[in-house]
Amino acid sequence: MKFPKSPAPDVLIIGGGVIGASIAYHLSAKGVKNILVIEKGSGYGGGSTSKATGGFRAQFGSEINIKLSLLSRKKLLEFEDEHGISPGFLQYGYLFLAQNENELAKLKAANEIQVTCGLTEAEILTAGEIFKLNPHINTDVITGGSFCNTDGFISPMQILDGYIKSAKRNGVVFQNDTQVTGFDVLNGRIQSVTTTKGIINPGYAVNAAGAWAGKLAELAGLELPVKPLKRQVALISEKNILPVNLPMTIWVDNSFHFRMRDKQLILLMPEEPENKMPFNYDAESSWLKKVSAVAMDRIPAMRNCSIDTAGSWAGSYEMSPDEHVIIGKAPGIENFYLANGSSGHGVMHSPAIGQLLAEIITDGSASAINIHALRAERFAEGNPVKQIEFF
Ligand SMILES: Cc1cc2nc3c(=O)[nH]c(=O)nc-3n(C[C@H](O)[C@H](O)[C@H](O)COP(=O)(O)OP(=O)(O)OC[C@H]3O[C@@H](n4cnc5c(N)ncnc54)[C@H](O)[C@@H]3O)c2cc1C
Repeated sequence: MKFPKSPAPDVLIIGGGVIGASIAYHLSAKGVKNILVIEKGSGYGGGSTSKATGGFRAQFGSEINIKLSLLSRKKLLEFEDEHGISPGFLQYGYLFLAQNENELAKLKAANEIQVTCGLTEAEILTAGEIFKLNPHINTDVITGGSFCNTDGFISPMQILDGYIKSAKRNGVVFQNDTQVTGFDVLNGRIQSVTTTKGIINPGYAVNAAGAWAGKLAELAGLELPVKPLKRQVALISEKNILPVNLPMTIWVDNSFHFRMRDKQLILLMPEEPENKMPFNYDAESSWLKKVSAVAMDRIPAMRNCSIDTAGSWAGSYEMSPDEHVIIGKAPGIENFYLANGSSGHGVMHSPAIGQLLAEIITDGSASAINIHALRAERFAEGNPVKQIEFF
């Protein structure tokens, strides 16, 4: 169905994933009345949100990511009271494993930043302490690690659902099957937005297009360095092979990690995909073989298990050059806002990002956290966010 006449929402949000829905909700909660969310898919969350495995952590290697996590964590703990839907937050922890002094030094350096930011429960562990926490891994070559018991797992689609339902209750309109195909930008302002359902004349527009954000920005003549990156997930066929309450367990050397989800073990390991099509979502057999070999070596219980090839999946991370979100006003277009490039952390940070962008749009700046470091201009200025890299 086409728009009967060109709608003129105060705020048009492009993208119906968890980030767009969170922004819509937070704007509506601040009293913004006329909000339209459009989504090119036939439902909501069909982009990366539904592909996310649902990890949550505050153990990051940069101050700003830790602060985004701490704000999100507070909001996740209040989520069910606020929205009447559980975010599925299970604080089983994140456990990082080092196999040599060099890897351990990185975890220690990151831990210092974490503790300084208030994540005082994050701790450095010995190999013996690690084995007590997760006796299901091969600890032969583990030197030490880091653990935070308030990290854990969340449910991406329940969070999306909560934000959409609350936003709708506040009057936000969601329209699917509607793709933005162009912008008319004049004198540094978006005048109109062309979609497959007709023209929209918004006061403000928000780019919440996830891994498609770079392409969307290009339509407005804006160079936004956000690119899709394929990430694959292997599902193990056998059920209940490990306890469900194990922490997310991650080896620093190659970022191989695993967790139990819905009674099944899932394995992840970032590797260059064979298929170079950015939005190809086949779990590749060569990758499944590789990840399975690593898992058999590191998780003894895996030796009697098999990969569920049909149930394994892939999706896109939305990568920015420094692997941190870009949030705020788009350079050179005064009524265009960005919430892009979370680089694989978009679900866990969506509560914070929604609140912060709503503050920027309505009040002119974010007050919950100082997010100057996340401005879009940082790349052109040669000032990307720096972090201790261990994952
Ligand atoms: C395998 C995998 C595992 C992950 N694990 C985690 C995890 O454990 N924890 C975590 O926090 N994050 C994780 N992520 C990352 C997370 O999924 C993303 O960061 C998050 O979903 C981004 O949300 P979004 O709303 O920006 O993007 P999306 O959910 O992709 O939403 C963007 C929407 O914009 C729509 N769109 C695009 N272009 C247009 C257009 N022109 N017109 C209209 N609509 C448009 C798309 O259809 C899409 O629905 C994972 C991702 C993958 C792929």
